[in-house]
Parts: sequence; C-alpha cells; structure tokens
Amino acid sequence: MRCVKCKAQAQVEVRRHHAAFCGPHFLEWFEAQVERAVRRERMFGPQDRVLVAVSGGKDSLVLWDVLLRRGYRASGLHLNLGIGEYSQQSQEKCEAFARQRGAELLVVDIPSEYGVGVEGLAELAGRVACSACGLSKRYLFNRVARERGFDVVATAHNLDDEAAVLLGNLIAGNVDALVRQSPVLDSGHPGLVRKVKPLYRIAERETAAYAVLRGIDYVLDECPNSVGARSLLLKEALNLLERDAPGTKQSLYWNFLEKLRPLLRAASEPVALRSCLHCGQPTTAEVCAFCRMTERVAHKLRSRVVAPAQAGREPVGARSGPGPDPA
Ligand code: AMP
Ligand code: ZN
Ligand code: ZN
Repeated sequence: MRCVKCKAQAQVEVRRHHAAFCGPHFLEWFEAQVERAVRRERMFGPQDRVLVAVSGGKDSLVLWDVLLRRGYRASGLHLNLGIGEYSQQSQEKCEAFARQRGAELLVVDIPSEYGVGVEGLAELAGRVACSACGLSKRYLFNRVARERGFDVVATAHNLDDEAAVLLGNLIAGNVDALVRQSPVLDSGHPGLVRKVKPLYRIAERETAAYAVLRGIDYVLDECPNSVGARSLLLKEALNLLERDAPGTKQSLYWNFLEKLRPLLRAASEPVALRSCLHCGQPTTAEVCAFCRMTERVAHKLRSRVVAPAQAGREPVGARSGPGPDPA
C-alpha cells in the first residue's frame, strides 16, 4: 500500500476516507482534521485560552499535543481521581508531557479536596462509580475553567466515543441527551464555560497511530471501573460494522449531527439554569448535584471520625455531626 500523497510505503490506512499515508503525511492529515474541526465548528480562535482536560491516556495527550503544535493557548487540567496505582500513573504521564513541552498543567487532587477518591464518593453517596466520576469531571472542568479565566474546555472525545454514546442514547430513547450531544456545547449561562470536542472527526485507532508516531508516552491501562462497561460493548458492535462497512461510525454520527439533531433541537425547550445556592455553579436544581454528593459524603466522613472519639461519653443519639457545610 502506498501513501496517497507521496507514493512512499504507507504506514497508516484510513479506510473510511479510502486513503493511506506514510508517517509524515499521516501526521499532516491528522492535524488538518483537528484544525478543520476547530474552524468548521468555530470552537475557539488563536487568542482564546483553552483548558484541555487530560486523563493521561492517548486521546487527551494527543489532543493537547496537536493544539500546542498549532500554536493555540492550551493548558492542561488533570483530575486525580484517587483510583490507586492507575491514578498515580495517569498523573505522572500528564506531568511528564507538560514538563517536556513547558506547558501549564493544573491538577485537582480529588482525595485531598473531598476526603476520598471517586470510588469512595460513589460508595458513600450511593451512586455507581462511573456516575460519580462523570459528575465530578463535568463539575470540576467547568469550575476550574471559570475560576482561572479560560474561554473554553476541550475534551478528547473521538469519533468512536461519540458514535457509541449516540447509539446508546438512540437505543434508550434518551431525547434530552440526544439534544445536547454535539462537538460544541455553547454556554447558555454566564457561569457555564463552552465545551468542545476537537477530535470528533478522528477515530480512536488514528489517535493511537498519532501517539506512536510522535512518541507520546501515555498510560496504557483503561480505568479499572470501565471493564465490562456498556460503552465498550457499544464500541465493539460498531467496530464489527466498521470492519465490513468502513465509514459506518462516521456516517452514523455525522448524519445525526447534520440531519437529525436540528429537528430534535427545533422541537425541544431550552433548559432553564440557575446558580447553585452553595457553590454558584449553574444547575437546574436549588443545590447542584455535585454539592449534594460531596456534602453527603463529608457528613458521613465526619460522623466516622467523630464516632470513635465520642464512644462511651455520650448517648448514640447525640453523636450526629453538624449539618453539611456549603461546598
Ligand atoms: P471519559 O469520561 O473517561 O470518557 O473521558 C472523557 C474526557 O474527559 C476525555 O476525553 C478527557 O478529555 C477527559 N478526562 C477523562 N479523565 C480525566 C481526568 N482524570 N482528568 C482530566 N480530564 C479527564
Ligand atoms: Zn507520504
Ligand atoms: Zn453546587
């Protein structure tokens, strides 16, 4: 197989575009795809400050790499989720990447901020781990971006991620989520920073190829909680279709964006947002879901600490701690 640009030996095939590239031409094509996504969807411009949410995995470090190479003002934000060895390695990969490029990396350490990692938050708040984790990510990305004056938050969701989420939402008939699914989520509230997904045109195997060709060192392990997750099953199903019908994922997602989503949007009511009474972040409720979760957890952790010290001194009923603090 030959590179479509220079006829040298091809290293990466992109079947859905009927193309193959040598290493240098693949890197050129890849960056052009990201740039096209940024411009076409008007995600941000050269003057905007972009906060890239980096997990330490290939997709987010590749995104950060491309944005820095293109001269965008991109800083990284890593959340240490407190998931043992996996989180420690993930943070180290982000730090090493930032150091090599002299780029700014912000880190929020969830266990030291909230007393426990996302698994502990989930357990104490009675949620499943991935839901506590997703909630924490959405909340902290926005809060850090706001507090530090960033114009936009960029996540590394790729074509495989978006197609799998779309398929899941279609199967479940989740209309609210379908209306919101987009490469650009414009802010509908002064406290909500816009969110963008510059890799939405790029398949996961292409970010892997980019990472290898650029020598980007990333954490290989997936989050231990994602094992057996439904999202992986949906990805497998789409990969099966893609194998015999290249372009299926792209057609599914792009046709949704171009044809179906405008109809859904036209038929839907805008969601009214207000400020959380405790933290000021945008929410549909009085107190946002993140404050409710962390306050419940703080309350439980306090009663755990107070319990042994007071044992034997007071009747059990007098032991309940003070009410939850505002976040
Ligand atoms: P996920 O929720 O794992 O599907 O990740 C979605 C996006 O969130 C990724 O593409 C990253 O941009 C970002 N992300 C995931 N994990 C982290 C993390 N620990 N810290 C910062 N950003 C993250
Ligand atoms: Zn070439
Ligand atoms: Zn709140």
